[in-house]
Amino acid sequence: NNPPVTVLGLGAMGRALARTLLAAGHPTTVWNRTPGKDDELVAAGAVRAATVADAVAAHRIVLACLLTNDTVDEVLTGVPLDGRILVNLTNGTPAQARALATAYGPDRYLDGGIMAVPPTIGGPHAFVLYSGSAPAYDEARPALETFGEARYLGADPGLAALHDIALLSGMYGMVGGVLHALALVRAAGVSATGFAPLLTRWLTAMAGGVGRYAAQLDAGEYGRDVVSNLGMQAAAWDNLTDTARAEGVDPRLLAPLGDLMRRRAADHPDEDLTGIVELLKETA
Ligand code: NDP
Repeated sequence: NNPPVTVLGLGAMGRALARTLLAAGHPTTVWNRTPGKDDELVAAGAVRAATVADAVAAHRIVLACLLTNDTVDEVLTGVPLDGRILVNLTNGTPAQARALATAYGPDRYLDGGIMAVPPTIGGPHAFVLYSGSAPAYDEARPALETFGEARYLGADPGLAALHDIALLSGMYGMVGGVLHALALVRAAGVSATGFAPLLTRWLTAMAGGVGRYAAQLDAGEYGRDVVSNLGMQAAAWDNLTDTARAEGVDPRLLAPLGDLMRRRAADHPDEDLTGIVELLKETA
């Protein structure tokens, strides 16, 4: 069961998706705004569509992987999607996904969040989150499972984007800390490459705390199963920023967290770090 697929968008990710579909034996039609990005795919058996309309007309499963959801709208405006399933793997917000589902038909719109980079598509670490039409997911599933683990989150089209954005938020928070740490050791004359294995080891060990934080948030009990209390952590915070400044490194990537820690620790020194989320609640 190798349903044929149309791929709109042959950037780094669209090419990886099309390559993976072809390797798994799915007849694949491809389209890209700028010509010349499909040579390798055509050589591997893809059919080149001259226009978006031709590409969409070719197969029932239409997969879009374009720069933004504005691009998706721009590319598909005026193109009849009758009877097609639209699988949109473009990064976007939950609100955009819901609006696209309404515009293109909630019963045949599937939104997706790719949790992989192009070289890892189809590999053991790749996973892709989906939400929206369940029948569309079931029909496209054999194709979608070629990209990595496919995880369907529910009928609300915004759910995949919500999870995707939350995962990216965690990643960027980590990257901010990583860049600061590497800049600090470099500024002090220590090899970043030599330091990197220690940083990886430490972050891997600390990632073990995510489940504890999550349980504290779900229970609303920030003082439950505390391992390192906030008062202690806030008291040590100046050591981070003082050391950075002493080495000529601006601590701006870390500074907001320290400010929140100090504010929360003033009244709740016995909690875990999670109490900080109370300070993130925006009032209308
Ligand atoms: P690229 O920048 O490599 O490709 C962008 C694609 O969008 C190209 O096909 C480009 O066409 C097309 N495009 C941009 N503007 C327009 C337009 N106005 N009209 C028509 N086509 C347009 O990005 P990626 O392929 O890496 O990313 C695609 C999507 O996948 C993004 O939403 C990204 O966030 C998401 N993603 C990417 C990951 C990654 O690591 N690369 C990881 C997870 C998700 P053209 O060739 O003509 O410029």
